[in-house]
Amino acid sequence: MAGKHGDPVCRLCRREGEKLYLKGEKCYAKCTLEKRPYPPGQHGQARRRKVSDFGIQLRAKQRARRIYGVLETQFRNYYEAAAQTKGETGLELLRRLELRLDNVVYRAGFGSSRAESRQLVSHRHFTVNGRNANVPSMLLRPGDVVAVKPGSTTIDPIVRSQEMLSNRPRPVWLETEGEHSVRVSAHPERAEMEPLIEEHLIVEFYSR
Ligand code: SF4
Repeated sequence: MAGKHGDPVCRLCRREGEKLYLKGEKCYAKCTLEKRPYPPGQHGQARRRKVSDFGIQLRAKQRARRIYGVLETQFRNYYEAAAQTKGETGLELLRRLELRLDNVVYRAGFGSSRAESRQLVSHRHFTVNGRNANVPSMLLRPGDVVAVKPGSTTIDPIVRSQEMLSNRPRPVWLETEGEHSVRVSAHPERAEMEPLIEEHLIVEFYSR
């Protein structure tokens, strides 16, 4: 139940002032942010204070963490791994987030939000390359095939999510293999990732 302070998940979007699409179907049908487009809390409607560079960088990092639903330690680990590659750190960080199994399930349209996709993975509804896979943070690579288990293709959340595919088509780096499986065909490119994320600010935050 939402309670007098509003839905706790939608509060994250209200704080960012942007739709982060954290609740699947609800985000398309009756978005709270569209009803209350100001920050949550008692002083939400008052003028906001000027924010420092640090504040802006922190906000960018928190926003990305919220979108992907990743805890701070893990997020920092992704950053550090990305910083050690020869590639562009911001892009490499985002690629790691995109290639998590729970995100791939979401991008493939088998789950209506990342949170729901994570739960579906934990509840053992998927295989990777034909093997059971129930770890949401598993990092996939080009060539990997993610499939809904045969016994899970008719469960309600998966059927409903697939019906929503017209709202958010699959990215080109996910090739449709069959009705219930996709192949990671390439590394995700920036243009197909979340436009709201400002990865240069996240890199600045961690390299202070
Ligand atoms: Fe809530 Fe979704 Fe709207 Fe965010 S986008 S405020 S999660 S309904």
